[in-house]
Amino acid sequence: MKPKFLLLLSLAMMLTPSFLYWLGPLRRPAMTDGDVLKMMPCPVCAGSGLVQNQNCQRCRGKKQLQHVIPGPHRPTCIEGHVYAPDGSTVVPEASVTFSSEAGSWSRKTDEQGRFGADLVPGRYPVEIDSPRGKLKTFIVVAPQVTPSPVDIDWSFPLRRDAFTLKK
Ligand SMILES: [Zn+2]
Repeated sequence: MKPKFLLLLSLAMMLTPSFLYWLGPLRRPAMTDGDVLKMMPCPVCAGSGLVQNQNCQRCRGKKQLQHVIPGPHRPTCIEGHVYAPDGSTVVPEASVTFSSEAGSWSRKTDEQGRFGADLVPGRYPVEIDSPRGKLKTFIVVAPQVTPSPVDIDWSFPLRRDAFTLKK
């Protein structure tokens, strides 16, 4: 290949989304309709920029951090842990079916008995089914009200729920 072509190719690669992501402009938290980004005092140093007379590690002495003020549709990431009727053995390959006004959808637990779902605020009937046992329950996701810093974690806030199957 000609050197000129390689130069053009490398210039084109620099404009790809992944490169822009690491460069900064696309480095934004997962946002939903109604969420608002706002600079607010750093929760670690309470906006002083200092911890024990050293530059605060979290805000690097900048005193403020980008926060998401959650809107009414901001999802919570639910990490479900499914246990057998004994209450301690994890259940892989259990089928987990969610229902909502928009329909129903299913997924299987992984080898550690876990499943994940990003759920917008609401009440979701859930049915868990496996050879080890079954469970019919609800997952209730409340709207978020607390602004959260987004400098480290760009995903939705995580909530861990445990589900113990019945025989
Ligand atoms: Zn700080």
